[in-house]
Amino acid sequence: MADITLDEFRAEITAFLDANATTKDEQQKFVWGEGSDDVALFEDVNEADEAAALERAQQWRAKRFDAGLGWISGPKKYGGRELPATYDRLYGGLEAKYETPDQNFFGIGLGMVAPTINAHATDEVKDLYLQKMYRGDLVGCQLFSEPGAGSDLASLQCKAERDGDEWLITGQKVWTSGAHYSDIGEIICRTDADMPKHKGLTGFVVDMKAPGVDIRPLRQMTGGANFNEVFFEEVRVHDSHRLGDVNQGWTVALTTLMNERASIGAGGAGGGMGLASIVRLQEMVRYFGLANDPIIRQHLMEVYIGFQVAKYTNQRALDKIKSGQLPGPEMSIAKLSLTNNLWRTANFVAEVLGPRMQADTGEWGTFTWSQLLCGVPGMKVAGGTDEVMKNIVSERVLGLPKDPGIDSKTPFRDLKVGTQQN
Ligand SMILES: Cc1cc2nc3c(=O)[nH]c(=O)nc-3n(C[C@H](O)[C@H](O)[C@H](O)COP(=O)(O)OP(=O)(O)OC[C@H]3O[C@@H](n4cnc5c(N)ncnc54)[C@H](O)[C@@H]3O)c2cc1C
Repeated sequence: MADITLDEFRAEITAFLDANATTKDEQQKFVWGEGSDDVALFEDVNEADEAAALERAQQWRAKRFDAGLGWISGPKKYGGRELPATYDRLYGGLEAKYETPDQNFFGIGLGMVAPTINAHATDEVKDLYLQKMYRGDLVGCQLFSEPGAGSDLASLQCKAERDGDEWLITGQKVWTSGAHYSDIGEIICRTDADMPKHKGLTGFVVDMKAPGVDIRPLRQMTGGANFNEVFFEEVRVHDSHRLGDVNQGWTVALTTLMNERASIGAGGAGGGMGLASIVRLQEMVRYFGLANDPIIRQHLMEVYIGFQVAKYTNQRALDKIKSGQLPGPEMSIAKLSLTNNLWRTANFVAEVLGPRMQADTGEWGTFTWSQLLCGVPGMKVAGGTDEVMKNIVSERVLGLPKDPGIDSKTPFRDLKVGTQQN
């Protein structure tokens, strides 16, 4: 039973937001050519701007946390309020009406790593990190993918070898979002190559600033460098930083992946198109004199309908979670719908803008859309590719036979995986 009613809590949140932020002007009508024309899916920012944005994000999180609103459903021992998830959602809905610093820096740490630490870490590690993560003092990243292990994550080769009370981690991770500004990472390593591939894995929390960690940026085709390769050379991790039991890392990884799909699905397929809103598309069509073109009208409506259908499907999944059921294949459908809808949007804009999307003439609201077009392929891969999502839907919704790629019996050492070193 909550010690505060939803109405009382609403008043508390509103008082905090009124005192610390300004409300968004929701009445302001979108006018073509005015305001920001940024529609990028992946930021293209320089190091200094990114550092400044991170500082603003951390200041906001700290303010929220110190006011008792940083981990609303979390344990009181870590500064939480132990209130039901409905109170969390109430905060999210109210904060969205105010101008606040971008909180994307914490998406992976709080959406995926912290829930995994909470579920699988030792009390020492929970005490060390959870409160600091929710206060924004520490940023977390996810060190799962490797050059030879993405969709087939269980083929990973980065190894951890026991050395007394410590482990030595050696190997390479790749596509690590935000590794360059992260303080800690959740890493899955191979600890026994004589076991089948899903069995000999173990999870750890690793200090991203430890000796032997080498973070190198990867520049993507949109121009930015949001991802990294991370090399580990005998990086020491104390056994207290192990997540779950030795060789039980697959369970740990599944906790993180389930939270990843839930957060991508919930954030993305909510029917909102973000900056690529239907009004923006509609005004673009008017501005270029295409409002009476029957093909353009039809394609615009296809974009709109796609997002509306995703919104209702996603609402069903969220209601299921709200009623205490586990998120299932709905989250894969949500992720798939999101990427399909973004792809349809990018193609529609290309149809309207033609060469203006390819060459930068400096005209407002034109070339900037190339950022969306070049970002969609990344969205089709991140958090599970379209094809993998389709496999999940075909197996779990349509009842088709399992993907034959999973070998659950052969020792990992005997499998022919990439350039296996173990
Ligand atoms: C924007 C972005 C952010 C990311 N952030 C992180 C991060 O922070 N941390 C992290 O660990 N990783 C991250 N990743 C990596 C991501 O998890 C992997 O890229 C993804 O799992 C796919 O793995 P892969 O790139 O090795 O492709 P592969 O798995 O090699 O896939 C190659 C192709 O084969 C297809 N394919 C593979 N297996 C099957 C199958 N069984 N059936 C049908 N088709 C199949 C795929 O769909 C794809 O088209 C990120 C990736 C992106 C794009």
